[in-house]
Parts: sequence; structure tokens; C-alpha cells
Amino acid sequence: MKILDGKVCADSLVADIAKKVTEYADSGLRKPHMTVILVGEHPPSESYVKAKIVSCENADFESSLIRFPEVIKERELLARIEEINNDPTTDGLIVQLPLPRHINQQSVINAISPEKDIDGFHPANFGRMTLGQKAFRPATAYGICKLLQFYNIPIKGKHCVVIGRSNIVGKPISIMLSNDFDIGNATVTLTHIETPRKLLLDETRRADIIIVAVGIPGFVTPDMVKKGVVLIDVGINRLESGKLVGDVAFDEVAQKCSWITPVPGGVGRMTVAALMINTLMAYQNNFNLA
Ligand code: NAD
Repeated sequence: MKILDGKVCADSLVADIAKKVTEYADSGLRKPHMTVILVGEHPPSESYVKAKIVSCENADFESSLIRFPEVIKERELLARIEEINNDPTTDGLIVQLPLPRHINQQSVINAISPEKDIDGFHPANFGRMTLGQKAFRPATAYGICKLLQFYNIPIKGKHCVVIGRSNIVGKPISIMLSNDFDIGNATVTLTHIETPRKLLLDETRRADIIIVAVGIPGFVTPDMVKKGVVLIDVGINRLESGKLVGDVAFDEVAQKCSWITPVPGGVGRMTVAALMINTLMAYQNNFNLA
């Protein structure tokens, strides 16, 4: 069993991005700039946002964090997004999810300019990605692809099973891996909460690659996988003890895997790295750089 180390891969990608930023700065351009909006106080969101700001420092990007209280009205938030959409000094904008219940998440996602939508959640980017066109790809799914590529894991022609169909992970990764992309051309089965247990097991037991994003600690057990499987664990679950675990019963399942991601230090790191790639792309688009 070998570890798909998200930290090693993310550090390497961010170092390459930092080199590019130096080249652009040497030719007189400003630095890429990511803006993050954080609403309310939600400890996991605080740590995700912090990771993004630290990654911006490592890539030599500018970053801005805009905080709003939990009680902010939806129209006030939308107005601020509109201002940032029109601000030529910001390349990429993230509104950290989840948002308070009184704010319609989809309205907020739809309000972000598709040109600044580095999370890749806007329908325009999701649609283009689905059609195989150039787009900001949803960051966690894109990060998983970059991790598989970094470790030269064969994907073309492989049987891949995705567990979970969220708009931010399961759905986009199933589309991306089945598309005719550089990192793609797999045969993908997308499973979800309504997938009968027997069908789920039939699929996972013959999968070459499993990607699990359900948010249930220990969901994937050794009897669900074949020997040699590549296992990507997207889950981030905090146990009562405070320990952070994924969706895989890691100690038992890892022995059967050829490759597996750890939690923490796996997909989470890659999500941030993918945001950096997307921000650089937004910046390059702004300045008509290759
Ligand atoms: P979600 O929480 O929105 O939905 C869970 C999904 O799991 C649903 O699609 C549901 O159909 C499926 N599911 C639930 N029970 C199931 C079952 N018994 N069989 C099959 N499918 C089942 O999904 P999400 O937002 O993708 O989050 C999933 C996990 O991934 C969470 O732990 C979340 O914290 C984590 N996450 C991690 C990252 C990262 O960067 N590492 C990014 C996003 C989400």
C-alpha cells in the first residue's frame, strides 16, 4: 500500500505556481489576487479559509478576507459580491460554504462572476466543464484529478466508482473522470443514498478506483473493496474525541489498497491547490497570458 500524499503534491504544484508569479512580476505585472468571503463563525470554515490564505502566501498571491456577521442580509452579501465582480484587482472570488440558513446558497453562487468563480460552482463553469470545454473545474474534484496525475495512477479505461453525488464533489468528479479529458476516460458509476446496498457492494467490489464523499466515518470497510484498489477518501469528519477522520476505515482498508489518501493530508490539501491553479488561470485570462 502506498500513500497518495496530498501535501507533497500540493506543495509541488504551489511551488510551480509561485515560479510563474515571479516571472509575471519580473515583467511588471501585479500579483494574482484571491478574495474570500466568510459569513458568520463556523470553526471548520475558519480553518478552511486559513488554509487558503496560507496557500496564497506560499504561491506569492495577494489575498483578502472579507468577514460578515451571521445576520448579514442576502441582498447585502449579493451587493458586495457585485462590487468584487467589478473590481479589476481581484482575479478569483470564493464565498466560503456553508452559508447561514436565511441565505440562498444557489443565489449566491449564481451571483459570482463566472470569470472569477475559482470554486467552479457557477452553472456556466459547471456546464462548460460537463461539455468538455475550458472552465474553472470544481476545486475538490479537480484536486483529486491532479493528485492521481501526480502519482501516475492510470485512469483511462479503468472502472471507477464514486460514492456520493453532491454538486461540489461526487457529481463533478464523476463527470470529469468519464469525460475525454487528459485525466479522464474512465468508466464511472455514480452511487448515492438511494443506491441499493447490494448494488453498491457489487460495484465497489469490482472497482479499480473508488472515490468516497459521504461524510460518514468508517463508511468504506474492507469487505467492500477488491485487493489493489485505489481509494480516494474525500470525507472530513470530526469525531467526539476531536480526531479528524475520513469516510474510510483506514487501518483495516489500507492493507487491501494499492494506493490510498490519508485524512488529513490527502484530498483537503488538493482542494486548496486546485483553487490556486484556478486563481492563476483567472489571472492569466485577465492579462491574456498563455
Ligand atoms: P454531502 O454531505 O452534501 O452529501 C453526502 C452524499 O453522500 C449524498 O450525495 C448522499 O447521496 C451520499 N450518501 C449518504 N449516505 C449514503 C449511502 N449510505 N450510500 C451511498 N451514498 C450515500 O456531500 P459532500 O458535500 O460531498 O461531503 C461529503 C464529505 O466530504 C463530508 O465529510 C465533507 O466534509 C467532505 N468534503 C471534503 C472536501 C475536501 O476538500 N476534502 C471537500 C468537500 C467535502
